[in-house]
Amino acid sequence: MQCYLCDSEITELNKTNEHIIPRGLGNNIESATVLCNPCNNELGSEIDAALISQLGILYQLVALARPGTRNDAVTNGLLDDGTPVRFEGLLKPEIPVEIHLPGIAPVKFTAQRDEIESKARKKLVQLKRRFLDLDIDKAIAGLEIKEYPERLIYFSNSSDPKQSMVGSPAFFRGIKKIAVNFYLHTGGDPMYIRDVIHQVRTGEPAPQVISKFYYPAIRPVYVPSEGEVSHLIKLVGDLEMGVLYCYVELFNTNSAIILLNDNYDGPAINQQYHYDLINRQHLTVPITLPFKNRSHVTDHFIVDRNTNMEGNATYQRTRRKLEELIRAKGLFI
Ligand SMILES: [Zn+2]
Repeated sequence: MQCYLCDSEITELNKTNEHIIPRGLGNNIESATVLCNPCNNELGSEIDAALISQLGILYQLVALARPGTRNDAVTNGLLDDGTPVRFEGLLKPEIPVEIHLPGIAPVKFTAQRDEIESKARKKLVQLKRRFLDLDIDKAIAGLEIKEYPERLIYFSNSSDPKQSMVGSPAFFRGIKKIAVNFYLHTGGDPMYIRDVIHQVRTGEPAPQVISKFYYPAIRPVYVPSEGEVSHLIKLVGDLEMGVLYCYVELFNTNSAIILLNDNYDGPAINQQYHYDLINRQHLTVPITLPFKNRSHVTDHFIVDRNTNMEGNATYQRTRRKLEELIRAKGLFI
């Protein structure tokens, strides 16, 4: 076996486990026969960087949404109006509280919900040294507790929680790498996908457009069940149509299709990988891509369809679903 990026032979000394889908996006399959160790370390992470920077937040949310896991990867949030929300241990947001006393500016602090009263009492005891006639119980009864509008909080561990625009040549380079990884991992012969390997290796744009977002107008390729967020790869080598192509749907959003060979005469291929990231299980629902003839496939790559709207809509749908799953775990009591 040869490394498809540098062509060196994969041996006991330089072998490594390559993640078919980057680890930062929730990988469940590895292959020891596609990349050598230096390529996996250096070029691999460079190619994966755009994908992870654009979609990595979804995997961090997945980590929080999974049943039974407690993860403090998410440390920041943002309200719709831009107000930052800070998370403390157990992923509970600290709640802003104000003590209003006559004659002085409000005393502001943040606290976990079950600590509000004790924190307020401590502050009031200190204040009583200066304001002798302060009625602590009355001040506590009058605390102003700022409730977050729960549905409007965006979770994040970055300063840009609303980031959602996905795409770019670097993004598609990463998607092509997933398609190449999966094709080779499932036994495909590299000679059929030389052009795409060259694009993954060099980062050069395709001589013709061979990668697109893909959102069929009539019905989506796959509708995930409630409580599921999955990765889906569908690889098809169709001899009648003479095409080899790969559909990659990450987090049930930003579906992309990669044309691997438009003059394909190799073995028939119908391979599918489908993994539910939330419930950590492989799914076996047969997925059919709605291509009925050769021109249907190849025209897709010639006709420029504007799919930004659909991409953004599915991204927001996945994000909302993850945030609802997280809230259902009692993050906000
Ligand atoms: Zn290599």
